[in-house]
Amino acid sequence: PPQSPNDYLDRLNPEQRAAVETVDGPLLVLAGAGTGKTRVLTTRFAHILMTRRAFPNQVLAVTFTNKAAREMRERVSSILGHPAEGLWLGTFHALCARMLRRHAELVGLTSNFSILDTDDQMRLLKQVMEAGGIDMKRWPPQGLMAVIQRWKDRGLTPARITAEEDSDFAGNKARALYAGYQERLKQLNAADFGDLMLHVVEVLRGHPEVLAQYHRMFRYILVDEYQDTNTVQYLWLRLLAQRTAPTPSNICCVGDDDQSIYSWRGAEIENILRFEKDFPGAAIVRLESNYRSTAPILAAASGLIAKNSGRLGKTLRPGRKDSRGEKVQVVSLWDSVEEARMVGGRIEALRRDGHDLAEIAILVRAGSQTRAFEERLITLGIPYRVVGGQKFYERAEIRDAMAYLRVVNQPADDLAFERIVNTPKRGLGDTAMRQMHELARDANIPLLAAAHRLVEDGGMRPKPRQALGELLTGFGRWREMLPGEGHVVMAGTMLDESGYTDMWKQDKTPEAPGRLDNLKELQRALAEFETLAGFLEHVALVMENDEQAETRRVSLMTLHAAKGLEFDTVFLPGWEEGLFPNQRALDEGGEKSLEEERRLAYVGITRARKLCIISHAANRQLYGNWSSAIPSRFLEELPPDHIEQEGSSSRRQPMAAMPSAFSGQFPLMARRPPRVIEAGAWEVAERPAKTAAIPVGTRVFHQKFGYGRVVAADDNKLDVEFDKAGRKRVLDSFVEKA
Ligand code: ATP
Ligand code: MG
Repeated sequence: PPQSPNDYLDRLNPEQRAAVETVDGPLLVLAGAGTGKTRVLTTRFAHILMTRRAFPNQVLAVTFTNKAAREMRERVSSILGHPAEGLWLGTFHALCARMLRRHAELVGLTSNFSILDTDDQMRLLKQVMEAGGIDMKRWPPQGLMAVIQRWKDRGLTPARITAEEDSDFAGNKARALYAGYQERLKQLNAADFGDLMLHVVEVLRGHPEVLAQYHRMFRYILVDEYQDTNTVQYLWLRLLAQRTAPTPSNICCVGDDDQSIYSWRGAEIENILRFEKDFPGAAIVRLESNYRSTAPILAAASGLIAKNSGRLGKTLRPGRKDSRGEKVQVVSLWDSVEEARMVGGRIEALRRDGHDLAEIAILVRAGSQTRAFEERLITLGIPYRVVGGQKFYERAEIRDAMAYLRVVNQPADDLAFERIVNTPKRGLGDTAMRQMHELARDANIPLLAAAHRLVEDGGMRPKPRQALGELLTGFGRWREMLPGEGHVVMAGTMLDESGYTDMWKQDKTPEAPGRLDNLKELQRALAEFETLAGFLEHVALVMENDEQAETRRVSLMTLHAAKGLEFDTVFLPGWEEGLFPNQRALDEGGEKSLEEERRLAYVGITRARKLCIISHAANRQLYGNWSSAIPSRFLEELPPDHIEQEGSSSRRQPMAAMPSAFSGQFPLMARRPPRVIEAGAWEVAERPAKTAAIPVGTRVFHQKFGYGRVVAADDNKLDVEFDKAGRKRVLDSFVEKA
């Protein structure tokens, strides 16, 4: 039933209410996590409609995810008391796609243009490079694709790129190739993802009459998560919102500089700082009461983020009536297997106590981390979903790798063989594939056998014939490796020799490193099984298990995908140096990235309403070997008064009872030789024989980083200048004198 007109305003505090009721003129809400920014935006939307300042289709509302858009639509509907329809509400891309359909002809497309996926984009770009006579061995197309995407993120069409700004790709040919690529897209009546924003911005820039039409239409603009807008999104907003006096710019942006976590996708935190300049007379509202989390959770998050420099600075205090609560728990575990058990066990206990699974989340730094938790939850029969991503065994690279493994296990597995016979590309065109299928059907033999015959009979062009021949002999060789080298080594060799790993190494899209991580994670999963067949059966069962239709599920996702969301209980596993903060991010961006990693940690902790459980393992499997892990520096940065340590007497010396790992309580550990389970923190318990300190200047060998020389030593940690890997801080127990 419709609510009495002002009910919705009563649910706001005075500052929030001011932000909702200051409807005309530019407004920036700058406030920390959980202070009700999204609630303000949603209520403001409803308020504009309730006070009849605009019709539903005259408000433009931008959210960061489709999920957020759905939630906002629901909330607006519930405040209105009827379903809200015809809203311009969605992500930047969704809104731009809709606009571009209306004006496609202005950029040389028609309104039914298609939106290309990454595969199509790549194929097209390669054609353009081929036509341009570019040596693609020397200049991988993926590199050019990345350059083009960055330009698009910055709102740069080929014509807007000056000669100085041209990338040195292929001898300053990037700009010309970009132009060629855009031309081809136009001929195909297609747009790639980046074009959706870029084209619309071009239309608005070049066609004042179109812009004026939108100015008349959108009386109010609302933007959530403003801190993560990139340049082209910012240009789009500014074009739509900036108008000439006397009409005010009715734009309201909400954001939090401490939650800016997408700079790697071109997001510009400066956009927040520029707001007052772009929109003179802008009102700034600050919200300081956090209604989401208990006091200890808030204190822990605030203490951590205080270590960042260059913050705008905000006050954040508990606003919940029941804000007293449990301290943030930091749990130290022996290894990643035990960590997954701990999380699974706690979730099971919560479920027993009647907690709603949908109010529990596991937030990880890297997508590959979900696997261990997925398997644990499956074992326990706890339904889960992977948000903003696919379940581990459904990811494309894992399906590909699994297909390779299936062919080794079972050469007659036609589905598997077909999936990978031309992945990576081996020059097998439609004709070759048709020949293979016909032969298989006529002779009633498996595809792989048909492929053998085809290669032998020579009914193919020389190049694909050679490539296919190599794959087939490869499969013979890899199968022979099984009894001797074992399935884990075989899998690594196979993925390398078949060119599959290389395919992703060459790929310069932002997803590629994550895919390579997933492939390594797959090898770790393989190592948990005695045989290849056993593993394949396990995965088949895992996938089968998936069909359950329960709706209340635990959420698994990356920290990036968790922005804006909230849960009663949040698990934050894997707080270890290298994993979080993430080494790759640090290598690429140094101190700036460290601050962004810290913001991610802040986002993670502030997702929790009541319970936040952070964990780290002392041993993690890398490349099939166990290696020791140093607890994340973020753990030390948490204010001690607000956290509670578990499984240890001090943060640096977790798990006093460690030796039990060898008493059969941890079957996985027991299967590995103890040699690789040398973590410095347990020297006393684990390494009675090897206690001599390693002095500065010693030449050492490290399993992961190779040879190097010790340049500094303190406690149980060494700074080593590695010949290949550069300077790293490692646990002394993990290096040997060379
Ligand atoms: P984030 O920075 O994480 O996106 P946010 O600032 O958008 O957070 P919201 O998600 O809008 O915060 O609000 C956090 C929680 O606090 C929500 O559950 C919301 O319903 C609740 N909340 C917001 N304002 C109030 C209020 N005045 N009284 C009670 N609860 C509130
Ligand atoms: Mg929000």
